[in-house]
Amino acid sequence: MYILLMGPPGAGKGTQAERLIETYGIPQISTGDMFRAAVKEQTPLGLEAKKYMDNGQLVPDAVTVGIVKERLAKDDCKKGFILDGFPRTTSQAVSLDAILQDLGIKLNGVVNIAVPDEELVRRTTGRQICRSCGATYHITFKPSKKAGVCDKCGGALYQRDDDKMETVKKRLSVYAAQTKPLIDYYKNSNLYIEINGAREMDAVFNDIVASLGKSK
Ligand code: ADP
Ligand code: AMP
Repeated sequence: MYILLMGPPGAGKGTQAERLIETYGIPQISTGDMFRAAVKEQTPLGLEAKKYMDNGQLVPDAVTVGIVKERLAKDDCKKGFILDGFPRTTSQAVSLDAILQDLGIKLNGVVNIAVPDEELVRRTTGRQICRSCGATYHITFKPSKKAGVCDKCGGALYQRDDDKMETVKKRLSVYAAQTKPLIDYYKNSNLYIEINGAREMDAVFNDIVASLGKSK
């Protein structure tokens, strides 16, 4: 199963990917997670990416396409993958088409999780991430049992720098200008599936799996 998960910041891509990993037994490939890992390790890629992430801007296409190309060529992607947060520009989508063609891979579905802006602001500004295992929580919608502590591993929870209100607003405007046009790019294929993401997590998940089942 080769799935592309699209949607604005905070739509629930990571949340749904976490469940899809278990259902289909395939890896999640999140460019945002890859950049955050590089920032944490302070690699040259991380130092470059941080300049853009801190301002809510997109990392340049050449850098982003390069890391995805390398990642998709790995053995664990042979049975399938969930691409989360890539592509985010039309140029990235064109590059992805070429990468997939080289690898002989055809996507099964392009899932767009649609959520209104005011809900996206609530979701991103209340998001908390575990510093140790990366699990995602929300102060209101998915609180950890003990405040500030990860249920899964006991790690400390933190708020992403780019989830502060000012940067969230910038990311939403970058999404509208650079990523939203991609919906038309994929609407022209028979792969496009739109999911109403403004519902509780289980309902969204059931809808995604049912739609992918039909699209196979
Ligand atoms: P994305 O990967 O698209 O940026 P996340 O999956 O990290 O989004 O979700 C953003 C925040 O919203 C997280 O704190 C998550 O717990 C919460 N969230 C995700 N899906 C829902 C939902 N259906 N209802 C309420 N909160 C949600
Ligand atoms: P995310 O975790 O998907 O919300 O991404 C966090 C940040 O990483 C974004 O605001 C961008 O700065 C950067 N990023 C993630 N994916 C991409 C991409 N496909 N293209 C460019 N920048 C990206």
